[in-house]
Amino acid sequence: MAKSKTIYVCEECGHETSGWLGRCPSCSAWNSFHAIKETTSRPSGGHTGSWLSSESSAESAEVIDLSRMAAAEVQRAPTGISELDRVLGGGLVPGSLILLGGDPGIGKSTLALEIIGGLPEGKTLYVSGEESAALLRTALLLPWHEPV
Ligand SMILES: [Zn+2]
Repeated sequence: MAKSKTIYVCEECGHETSGWLGRCPSCSAWNSFHAIKETTSRPSGGHTGSWLSSESSAESAEVIDLSRMAAAEVQRAPTGISELDRVLGGGLVPGSLILLGGDPGIGKSTLALEIIGGLPEGKTLYVSGEESAALLRTALLLPWHEPV
């Protein structure tokens, strides 16, 4: 389905605007704008303005009944911290992201480091915008992370 919109074109110089102007900003002519109905038929993927206006996305959209979808069995990795595992529904989900929030000093970093210390194998990337590397290293070497 093609859409049409009105554009205004200066008859002196061809300057186009979306609204009528008394004086052309390009050639300074007065009363030179005339309304023209422009029919736009853009190629798919040519998004202009709102994503809702793209006819290609409207045609390719599919309604999914979530109640009829089969529940995917997710393999969770227990952290070894029983309360945390309970909150996470059984453990960490590979590829997932967990937002750990709370007041300053409540123990978010300590909990994160405990989770890292309890992971069975593999490498962990700890990204911090607050704690220094020296502090993180010290915390990781606290007794509960020592190999038994
Ligand atoms: Zn003009």
